Amino acid sequence: MSVTLDLTAAERERILAKAAHFSPPPHILPDGRRDLVGLSREELLEEVEAFGEKPFRAKQLWHWIYHQGVREFSAMSSIAKPLQEKLAERFVIGRPEVATDQLSKDQTRKFLFRFRDHEAVETVYIPDRQEDRGAVCLSSQVGCTLSCRFCHTGTQRLARNLSAAEIVGQFMAARDAYGEWPSPRGETPRLLSTIVLMGMGEPLYNYENVAKAMKIIMDGEGIALSRRRITLSTSGVIPMMDRAGEELGVNLAVSLHAVRDDLRDELVPLNRKYPIKELIEACRRYPSASNARRITFEYIMLKGLNDTEADAHELVRLIAGLPAKVNLIPFNPWPGSNYEPSTPQALKKFAAIITQAGYASPIRTPRGQDILAACGQLKSAVEQAAQ
Ligand code: SAH
Ligand code: SF4
Repeated sequence: MSVTLDLTAAERERILAKAAHFSPPPHILPDGRRDLVGLSREELLEEVEAFGEKPFRAKQLWHWIYHQGVREFSAMSSIAKPLQEKLAERFVIGRPEVATDQLSKDQTRKFLFRFRDHEAVETVYIPDRQEDRGAVCLSSQVGCTLSCRFCHTGTQRLARNLSAAEIVGQFMAARDAYGEWPSPRGETPRLLSTIVLMGMGEPLYNYENVAKAMKIIMDGEGIALSRRRITLSTSGVIPMMDRAGEELGVNLAVSLHAVRDDLRDELVPLNRKYPIKELIEACRRYPSASNARRITFEYIMLKGLNDTEADAHELVRLIAGLPAKVNLIPFNPWPGSNYEPSTPQALKKFAAIITQAGYASPIRTPRGQDILAACGQLKSAVEQAAQ
């Protein structure tokens, strides 16, 4: 089916310009070489065939790039030297540039990664407090269009979506920083063991690239992270939640933050389009929910706004019957924000009501505060310094 839009030339131009503005850079570098990172398996195969090589080379390259994490063709020991050289003339194995790399006292580590067009995003590694592992928090967009009132990223103008290469690239570059690729003896890495899509941007507003990146990361012959180790956080883009559930099956986190539409309309403006009742219904449809895999509800505790005992009881009522856990996040203030974090007493009372109803409700103590490791803050600090 084709749809004809009756647009004036000026309108068409405006839309095209806007779309181009949002699009990530192509995988071809200014010098004509092509970046192999971020291609699907099929696309990699096409590149290899167009290059005149047999299909098994695509499999080899995939293994070296995503399983071994090599950045140079010269390190690919199963490929003969003349071919390594030919490959290097035509292709690159891209990584974002590390613009800044900060380590917090609590070992949270925050990278600012810069891409070829000089746009930058944050990626944060959050080590588990008890065990020798941790989560990598990836960004999906430069900035965000959704303007949630408590979120610093929402105040930044959206420059653009990230490409699949840039999303996978954040994880690969974080692994580089920790030397976390399998050793030749076959030991598998442990530190960077989970992924949360909770950095800058709304992943479901950049679904195609996020989905492609996650498929690359989950591929069993590469990084091979299980879908159970990946959590996608959304402010509630309902139609795309259904799609992500069907196609990716990763864990779902929903940024709820309020239990009444009037307040959520204000805090998360997307609620005007996708209100709470429909959002919870979409959660009930999410496939992992029927497999007893818990959905995480994120709830920023804002003093005097959403943190009463009545709110807690309403939250329990809303999620009744869903396998769920509730992450209570103390609001992390930033210069110019109009909210205050809830008191520790209010947090405790709220958590107790949720726990009593049978849901885990960990209170997320802020991590990496000394390096501003909360949603969008380093990026903005850097931008402000540059102005
Ligand atoms: N756009 C997606 C994912 C990125 S936001 C979403 O909204 O779910 C990731 C998380 O950071 C969200 O739960 C958001 O509520 C939280 N966050 C944003 N600003 C914050 C702040 N100032 N203090 C604490 N958490 C914040
Ligand atoms: Fe965007 Fe999420 Fe921040 Fe809202 S909370 S502005 S959706 S990044």
